[in-house]
Amino acid sequence: MKAMPKTEEEWKKRLSSEQYHVLREKGTEIPFTGKLLNNKENGVYTCSGCGSELFSSDTKFDSGTGWPSFDKPENLENVELKKDFLHEMVRTEVLCRKCGGHLGHVFDDGPTETGKRFCINSCALEFKRK
Ligand code: FE
Repeated sequence: MKAMPKTEEEWKKRLSSEQYHVLREKGTEIPFTGKLLNNKENGVYTCSGCGSELFSSDTKFDSGTGWPSFDKPENLENVELKKDFLHEMVRTEVLCRKCGGHLGHVFDDGPTETGKRFCINSCALEFKRK
C-alpha cells in the first residue's frame, strides 16, 4: 500500500470517481451494481481506500438490499461507528478507522445472532481471497 493520501486532491487521484464519492463524500452507490454484491468466495474484505481489513466472508449474507451485507466487522477496532442525521434519518454510519472513509451504515435488523446488518458499499471494499 502506498502512503496515505493527505489531501482531497491525492484521494481523487487514487480512487475512481465512484469510490471518491462514497468514501470521501459519504455517497451511496446504486444498489445491485457493486461487483462484490454476489461474491461468495472465502476471504477478507478490505477498505478500497487504505487496505485495512474490515469484514470476513464468513459474516457476509444476502440481505436483498442490493449492497453487500455483513453481520459483524472482522475487527471492531478497524471500524468507527458514528450517528448521522443525513436525509432526515437517524442512522449509524460505518467508517474505516484508518483512513476515515465512509463505508456504509449499520442497522439493528440483521437476521443472525448478532442482530446487526452492516450495509456496505461494494466500491468501498476490495476482496482478498484466502
Ligand atoms: Fe480505509
